[in-house]
Amino acid sequence: MSGIARNIESILSTLPQGVEMVAVSKFHPVEALREAYDAGQRLFGESRQQELLQKAPLMPDDVRWHFIGHLQTNKVRSIIDKVAMIESVDTERLLRVIDDEAWRAGLKANVLMQVHVAREETKFGFLPEELVAFFAEGRHEAYTAVNFRGIMGMASNTDDIDRVRRDFEAIAACRRSILATAPGLTGFDIVSMGMSHDYPLAIECGANLVRIGTAIFGEREY
Ligand SMILES: *Cc1c(COP(=O)(O)O)cnc(C)c1O
Repeated sequence: MSGIARNIESILSTLPQGVEMVAVSKFHPVEALREAYDAGQRLFGESRQQELLQKAPLMPDDVRWHFIGHLQTNKVRSIIDKVAMIESVDTERLLRVIDDEAWRAGLKANVLMQVHVAREETKFGFLPEELVAFFAEGRHEAYTAVNFRGIMGMASNTDDIDRVRRDFEAIAACRRSILATAPGLTGFDIVSMGMSHDYPLAIECGANLVRIGTAIFGEREY
């Protein structure tokens, strides 16, 4: 068994039922993805449009791709029919373009709204209160070619476990607040949080989708 297959097997054995794993394959060669595929992995995450477009045709058709990085509006058209989900919707402007391009392509785009709670890690994402207001005011109803599937977030990159736990709890609480203020919203079920170093804690705090790269594929070479 390959190292990648072993890593996948040992991570999966720790995931409770109902928690799905995105194999974050950014910066890793297609051969590594193929090893993961042969170990049964079908869900992969990429963070750069160019890389996704290069890899997707080289992998079998039953691979599902999640886009997890900052997405520029002018790149949406090229990936809209290649990805099963865009996890990183961080502005209404981007959402508008996703909606337009999905409509144009005759499909419904599955999206997660990225919420920003971490200290300094990334500048991307909505503040929790912005996101709650967006749904409470019914602004989401204007996006008819979009399926709002849940939220995505990251915790602060720190050894301070209490801080990390608070961040994850804030992300999960944001989803509950949205559901409470927008009762018509259905299928808003996904809480995507947790990476290689913090996913067990994320799951404790309510994650049902984890995004794991290094623990599967090893360190990235940028
Ligand atoms: C790279 C990346 C991950 C995976 O990080 P690892 O620490 O390698 O597990 C998860 N989520 C996002 C948004 C990423 O960009």
